[in-house]
Amino acid sequence: MSVRVLCVAAALACLLSSCANRSQTETGSLASAFAPAKALSSPKKANADDPVALTPAAWGRFSSPRGLSGRTIDVSAISDIRLRDKEVVLTFDDGPMPKKTERILATLDEYGVKATFLMVGEMAKAHPEVARAVVDAGHTIGSHTFRHADLANLSFDAAVAEIQKGRNAVTSVTHDEADFFRFPYLADSRKLRQWVGTHGMVVMDVQVDSKDYFGVSPAAVATRTTNALRAERKGIILLHDIHNRTAAMLPALLTQLKAEGYKVVQLRHGRGHAPMLTAALDRASHG
Ligand SMILES: [Zn+2]
Repeated sequence: MSVRVLCVAAALACLLSSCANRSQTETGSLASAFAPAKALSSPKKANADDPVALTPAAWGRFSSPRGLSGRTIDVSAISDIRLRDKEVVLTFDDGPMPKKTERILATLDEYGVKATFLMVGEMAKAHPEVARAVVDAGHTIGSHTFRHADLANLSFDAAVAEIQKGRNAVTSVTHDEADFFRFPYLADSRKLRQWVGTHGMVVMDVQVDSKDYFGVSPAAVATRTTNALRAERKGIILLHDIHNRTAAMLPALLTQLKAEGYKVVQLRHGRGHAPMLTAALDRASHG
């Protein structure tokens, strides 16, 4: 590794920890993954409130992005999503959004990983070319209602109609089945979860919330997400492809995931991919 690469790695480690008064544990584990922060040439000692200058494009160039991609899991029901230690699923909600989604697609492509995009129906209709670009790039899609309604405030029938309208919109725009579903605000109910499950969709739960919807710096989002992930060691990560900070921090997050030995797993709806399982279920239901 060249000195230049080490410097960039050190800068990244420093940025991810915000160069702030973090706990010993946090600083220690970041330091073990990257070169010592003293390689930085900045003469000024950073304060916790200092803005963090981010140059993720440079990180992407100097890192070694490949090797982050993991296995593909065929999913027909929520119980099929069984992640092993150090396996993560990347999910992006609320798009598609021009520029932001496209920037995220470019980063995912650079790192050779696939994600799941839970699209809002009216967003897919407003930006059909971006929605199709997601599918064309080989990512998995799902829906997220038509208008991003809080289903907890709707009657059961109205909630079901909102879910169906969203799925139909995403499917008609992308010409792909939107087989995954995420509840807006994660506001679910047992009855609605059951309805979704019996109508050919798989509910996408969340284990690691990036909280990228808060107005914090990109570095803060990357740090929060990696810290939350260290506690869980695996899981479905919730991100949003409508925020610049998410697009800005994604190269840093993926670089860090690779450094810590994670694999990004792709979920694919099992419809048509698991004939043996279908056959087994057929036998069971007829037996
Ligand atoms: Zn949402």
